[in-house]
Amino acid sequence: MKTTDVIVVGAGPVGLMLAGELRLGGADVTVYDRLPAPTEESRALGFNRRTAESLDQRGLLPRLGAFRWGPMGHFGGVRFDLGLLDEDHSGVLGLSQTRTEQALDAWLAELGVPVRRGHEVSALRETADAVVVSLAGPDGHREETARYVVGCDGAGSTVRALAGIPTVDWEPTRGMYTAEITGVAPRPRPIGERLPGGRMVVCTPLGEGRCRVVVHDPDLPARPRPGALTFGEVADAWRRLTGESIHDARCLWLWASGNSSALAQEYRRGRVLLAGDAAHEIPPLAAWGLSAGLQDAVNLGWKLAATVRGRAPEGLLDTYHGERHPVGRQLIRNARAAAKLYLGDEAMDPVREVVGELLTHKDAAEQVAGVVSGLGIRYDLAKGDHPLLGRRMPPETTVTLADGVRVRVAELLRTGRGLLLTAADADEAVARAADGHADRVDVVTGDWNSAPHAPLDAVLVRPDGYVAWTSPGTADDLADALDRWFGGRVPQSAGR
Ligand SMILES: Cc1cc2nc3c(=O)[nH]c(=O)nc-3n(C[C@H](O)[C@H](O)[C@H](O)COP(=O)(O)OP(=O)(O)OC[C@H]3O[C@@H](n4cnc5c(N)ncnc54)[C@H](O)[C@@H]3O)c2cc1C
Repeated sequence: MKTTDVIVVGAGPVGLMLAGELRLGGADVTVYDRLPAPTEESRALGFNRRTAESLDQRGLLPRLGAFRWGPMGHFGGVRFDLGLLDEDHSGVLGLSQTRTEQALDAWLAELGVPVRRGHEVSALRETADAVVVSLAGPDGHREETARYVVGCDGAGSTVRALAGIPTVDWEPTRGMYTAEITGVAPRPRPIGERLPGGRMVVCTPLGEGRCRVVVHDPDLPARPRPGALTFGEVADAWRRLTGESIHDARCLWLWASGNSSALAQEYRRGRVLLAGDAAHEIPPLAAWGLSAGLQDAVNLGWKLAATVRGRAPEGLLDTYHGERHPVGRQLIRNARAAAKLYLGDEAMDPVREVVGELLTHKDAAEQVAGVVSGLGIRYDLAKGDHPLLGRRMPPETTVTLADGVRVRVAELLRTGRGLLLTAADADEAVARAADGHADRVDVVTGDWNSAPHAPLDAVLVRPDGYVAWTSPGTADDLADALDRWFGGRVPQSAGR
């Protein structure tokens, strides 16, 4: 039986993104999903700045069609002024998750990645050098073998359970109803209207006469029975809280949810890894799930591809858990805090006021905006003191090449390889240090401006866009950084 490099379980946004990243990195990958066709539920209506940047790095933004940039300038309903900040933290709005998934699907088709729908994973068996995956599909049961399996199979992940990976769970304490409707247009309340007693209603217009209504009420069931909700119950709850009737609307889809959260204790166990909602179930109110999951995919893809190609340095794959697990934990904590602010009753008002005052200070606003936008992430990638070390290389940074052509860093990362940027007047030995990594790292010489930070002669950027080494500002030398992130050198003739 043929062994695939990687089987990705789940063709949601995270599985699709991961599969593309793996393919870019040279891995053989197949995606399986239990649904016979993509879902038409719009779910996430956008994503944060960092996720948009990650898609830009792969040239995917223009494929998404029309959307708008807008401020994601609130934390648990407490607004703050994004204009205080030096960088643009606005995110993508007005883009349904269905469209994001369609764009990723089309990308995979171009990359030649098979997405096999109607196949449900029911068992996993790990052998010495592979994982055997049992699938139930249109032609009955069969087994496929892969060197690694990644569970991108969403909340309540089957892969997580089959691999025996435990979770830390936060039990649900209250419920919410969501419905997408057409034919009736309630007054818009896009960031929510708080009502007495810890109740809230949200109405987000979606264009073409559709809108999303959400009802938060402590009286709703915290553990709803799957599939039991009717639109009549949503409309009754809406009228109870707003006095408006939406009973005559046509309901396109509806959803009942509790506010539970869960965090996998290990993002990797042996040859099984987890990403997206399978790794972290963030309470739904924060609306951070899609962004967090796509960031997992971009962090994991190049590392796992290097591993299956035999080029990964020792320990590279484990940096996935090391980097992303703390982010997942922090997002859940922050989402729970935001939910308390958002949905707490009047007793929370003084806390809201204090938080609001704090957020008029630039440092506090920057900290919170960094969580919401994803721009605040700093991985521990090397010892050093340059502020960009461990942070994302601003993708809008323009590099002027020797022939005068100007190119953005985002465009230089399209290949999915690492990037060594060297200044035109930098020591030539710096560019030559990457000779043995020519198949994994592109060397680009030009001029760029790293303001407001100290100027740089050279910077090493990982395929996910994060800065692994700077000159000056990093204690390690470049050769060590290249080996640490990209593995040993190979003679140039054996390059790509
Ligand atoms: C109503 C609603 C509104 C939301 N709004 C937002 C928002 O505004 N912003 C935001 O960021 N997030 C939002 N989310 C959350 C967001 O949709 C999720 O975080 C995101 O879908 C997670 O992507 P994923 O790929 O990890 O998992 P999923 O999208 O859940 O995909 C998992 C896939 O795995 C497949 N699968 C499951 N089990 C198996 C199996 N055994 N074998 C094969 N396939 C399997 C499923 O069929 C599914 O296609 C919302 C969610 C809902 C429901």
